[in-house]
Order: sequence, then C-alpha cells, then structure tokens
Amino acid sequence: EAKKEGSGQIKVFRQRMLQKLLESRTLEHDMAMALVNKEFVVYYQPIVDSFTQDIYSYEALIRWVHPLKGLLSPDSFIPVAEKTGMINEMGKSVLEMACREAASWAVPAKISVNVSPVQLSSKAFAGIVLSILKETGLQADRLELEVTESSLFAGSSTPVNTLNKLRSLGVKISIDDFGTGYSSLSRLSKLAFDKIKIDKSFVHSISTQEDALTIIKLITGMAKSLNMKTVAEGVETQEQLENLQALGCDLAQGYLFGKPQPGIDGKIRNG
Ligand code: C2E
Ligand code: MG
Ligand code: MG
Ligand code: MG
Repeated sequence: EAKKEGSGQIKVFRQRMLQKLLESRTLEHDMAMALVNKEFVVYYQPIVDSFTQDIYSYEALIRWVHPLKGLLSPDSFIPVAEKTGMINEMGKSVLEMACREAASWAVPAKISVNVSPVQLSSKAFAGIVLSILKETGLQADRLELEVTESSLFAGSSTPVNTLNKLRSLGVKISIDDFGTGYSSLSRLSKLAFDKIKIDKSFVHSISTQEDALTIIKLITGMAKSLNMKTVAEGVETQEQLENLQALGCDLAQGYLFGKPQPGIDGKIRNG
C-alpha cells in the first residue's frame, strides 16, 4: 500500500516537473520573441532626499508588456532570462533606454539601473556601459548601477574589477537589497561603493519589530563610517519616513513618494 502511494507520488512529481519544464520553455520562447518585438519597457520610480524630498534619482525598473498576459513584473521573468543568458541582451536594452531617457531630462537627476550578476560576470560589460554612455551622451556620474552582494563574491574577480573600472570613470555603484545577502562586512568594506540600499523587508517592519530598527541603525552607522550614503527601499508611510530620518538615512524610495511610472513627468523633460 505504502509502495503504491509512493509511486503515485513520483508520478505526480514527474508530471509537475514536466509541466514546469514546458512552462519555462514557453516563457523562454516568448521572451526571445519579446526582445525582437520590443515588448520590454522601462518604468521609473523616484528616489528622494529623506529630509527635503528633492528628487535625487529615478530607478529604472523593467516591465514586460505581454500581448496576452498584460503587464508582467520582473520577478516573473528575470530568473529565466538569467538562466538562459538572455539577461545580457535584455539588460543592455534597459541600459540604453534608461540612459537615453535620463539624457532627455531638463534636470540633472541621476538614473539607477539594476544589473544582474550574470551581466557583471561578463568581461564585455564595462565596454557595453561605456559605449551606451557615449551613444546617449549621458554624463558618467549621472549613472548609478545597482548590484547585489551575491554578484560580488561568486568566485571570479571580474565583477569587482569591472565595477572598479566603471567607478574610476565616474559611474556610481549601489549595493541593492542590503542585509539579505551573505557577504561578510569585512569583505564588503574592502570594496568601494557609493551607496547602500536597505532592503524593504527591514523598512516594512521598522515600527513593529525592534530588530529591524536595530539593523537599520547598524547599516546607517556602518555606511557613514565608510563614507557611503544610505537609501531606504519600500517606504510607504509617514511613520516609516520619520523613523528613517531619525536614523539619519539619507535617501528614500517607495510608494509614499511615487510608484514606478512609464515615463517621467513632463515638467522635468526638455522642451
Ligand atoms: P529592486 O531593485 O530591489 O527594486 C525595488 C522593488 O520594490 C521594485 O519592484 C519596486 O517596484 C518595488 N517597490 C518600490 N517601492 C515600493 C513600496 O513602497 N512598497 C513595495 N511593496 N514595493 C515597492 P519591481 O519593479 O517588481 O522589481 C523587482 C526586482 O526586479 C527589482 O528589485 C530588481 O531586483 C529586479 N529588476 C527590475 N528591473 C530590472 C532590470 O532592468 N534588470 C535586472 N537585472 N533586474 C531588474
Ligand atoms: Mg534596485
Ligand atoms: Mg532593492
Ligand atoms: Mg529588492
């Protein structure tokens, strides 16, 4: 009886595996078509000064305008794009769109672009960034790249060398989702960054969990002593903002200030 049940479970398991495989195959195919058909677009979300609420930059966030499924968020397709290597082409096109957009603004706000570990491990990446800056005419110090801790210590020295090179040319570097990775502080402090983005999970529990407040306090303190700025992600309430101000967090991003939008307000555009 037990054996029978076991083999039934294996059958269900295999069916699920097959289903998953088919789904990812379709996604892969749809994604390749989408690149050709230009179905990927970029939304922009403001990052503001915590105290004055002046706009500091906009983060570029990819969306897929799927012909049948509507607007898809990155979490539903980035992992497959990374697995297939398609992220390289996708990421390049995001960089192009975002830099072109920022170059058209009448104000010199910065543009923050997320970079996948896969892109960073390619030796061609620095050259790609530089040629996009040249082609769009965007000044290097208006571009910020958001990278995750996991991409820096994957074993190869390419990611760190690439970032050091870009940084020496003026490009700014932020560590995204800080506090959720596994890198040691001593390793991190050996690298030169401009900003630390505090993961939204800490921001959301700021007033309900004392731990979250303590962690944010530690991060802002560490950032100060390393001469880096801090950005809080996912700020949704006035109360969260006030807590962050009290902790000396420099910049803030979240629905309280604005959701990601397909384009930037006419006011700050040229012409
Ligand atoms: P992320 O870089 O940490 O981006 C912040 C995410 O938080 C975005 O989700 C944003 O829409 C969301 N968010 C902003 N404010 C709030 C808030 O107040 N409350 C809540 N609950 N969420 C908020 P999104 O746009 O779905 O992007 C998810 C992740 O996908 C990004 O996380 C980033 O890791 C990745 N991603 C987005 N665009 C790109 C891209 O062009 N390339 C790569 N490689 N990854 C990207
Ligand atoms: Mg980001
Ligand atoms: Mg983040
Ligand atoms: Mg995040």
